[in-house]
Amino acid sequence: MLATADALGRLLDAARRVDGRERIGTLDALNRVLAEDVISPLDVPPMHTSSMDGYAVRAADLAGASETAPVALAVSQRIPAGHAAAPLAAGTAARIFTGATVPPGADAVVMQEMTQASDDGRVAFAQTPAAGEWITRQGADIRQGSVILPAGTRLTPQALGLAASVGCAQLEVVRPVRVAIFFTGDELRMPGEPLEPGAIYNSNRFTLRALLAKLGCEVTDLGIVPDRLDATRETLRRAAGDHDLILTCGGVSVGEEDHVKPAVEAEGHISMWQIAMKPGKPLAFGAVRRGAKAGAGAGAGAGAGAGAGAGAEENVAGEAFFIGLPGNPVSSFCTFLLFVRPFLLRLAGVERVAPRVFSMRADFSQKKGDRRNEFLRARVNDAGGLDLFENQSSAVLTSTVWGDGLIDNPPNHAISAGEIVRFIPFSELTR
Ligand code: AMP
Ligand code: MG
Repeated sequence: MLATADALGRLLDAARRVDGRERIGTLDALNRVLAEDVISPLDVPPMHTSSMDGYAVRAADLAGASETAPVALAVSQRIPAGHAAAPLAAGTAARIFTGATVPPGADAVVMQEMTQASDDGRVAFAQTPAAGEWITRQGADIRQGSVILPAGTRLTPQALGLAASVGCAQLEVVRPVRVAIFFTGDELRMPGEPLEPGAIYNSNRFTLRALLAKLGCEVTDLGIVPDRLDATRETLRRAAGDHDLILTCGGVSVGEEDHVKPAVEAEGHISMWQIAMKPGKPLAFGAVRRGAKAGAGAGAGAGAGAGAGAGAEENVAGEAFFIGLPGNPVSSFCTFLLFVRPFLLRLAGVERVAPRVFSMRADFSQKKGDRRNEFLRARVNDAGGLDLFENQSSAVLTSTVWGDGLIDNPPNHAISAGEIVRFIPFSELTR
């Protein structure tokens, strides 16, 4: 069995950024990935600005000012935000407001609470300000010519704000990754349909579609495919055409009703990985030829045999990547979060795809460690520790809603109460 990290490493080694980019409005670019660096054409702020309502002065003009011997200056101009400032006349103060341009010659702002204005148009100061006080210097945030967002950045709300702060109305982004998805299982019904004996609802469709949507993928949902080899192969061929990745759910084990593996082997090549993780275990990775006809010679492209060695997958032109997820709802959820998500982000050009992991205290104990790397559904309690969901079965979807994330528990490791464990919040994994 492969260790989780090794399996992820193999997946990421095969992934490379899709070709194709587009220029879109910054307002529409949330969650997209930058195809090129954003370089600031200006300083931010573009001029020295006041960070207080008060008076702009030359600090030297207030030398020796004190409570007992205040110094009064004439107010020579008034500078609201958004207005130009004239040079500060010697021995005077300028009335100034937050965000307004500091007049040339002034080197400090005194906040209005520290001053005493009088009717004769003068203002008294009881202290000498330090040079630079309450002034945000030109370029303090961003220097003209600097890279403010490197290529490969996934655009958060803050990143959009930063791009806008240097005047970028449009951004060059990677085209969305195109994913075809289908679900195998004769037992699957859609919510809204009646549930005959033996049937269950296709819950994974909802979980996986939502996860893909959050990643900004363009999704073609090919629905539920019957547990038959010909139907599975036919759907794979259809999916390969215009997609970067074909994602399937269920039917990937080695039972007689599991047709995904032989279907992908016939239409491309596959590696089945037994990953030493729980939930999860079987994950299939490979590729499906584009434009291939059933039974066509396997001489070109992803030729026969390529699937024999794990990690030999190459998405040479003319293939769509393939990932087969297990059908159990918690397994498909976890394997998506831990493998498919970073893979898709890498296809989209994101460099840093690992979630942030937090060290947290376990407020429970688990006497026996599993021989596999467990991903336990846990919740943050009011004491700042972690509670464990009582039923960790891979069929119990409730655990994923109750929980706040996954404890990444190494193989053969029992957990004692009070121990510090690795916790990956769902918020990191479902962004
Ligand atoms: P499989 O991987 O096809 O052997 O399925 C494993 C388990 O997951 C079985 O109990 C299936 O009924 C269940 N399952 C498979 N696909 C789905 C799905 N899309 N939604 C909910 N449960 C599923
Ligand atoms: Mg099945």
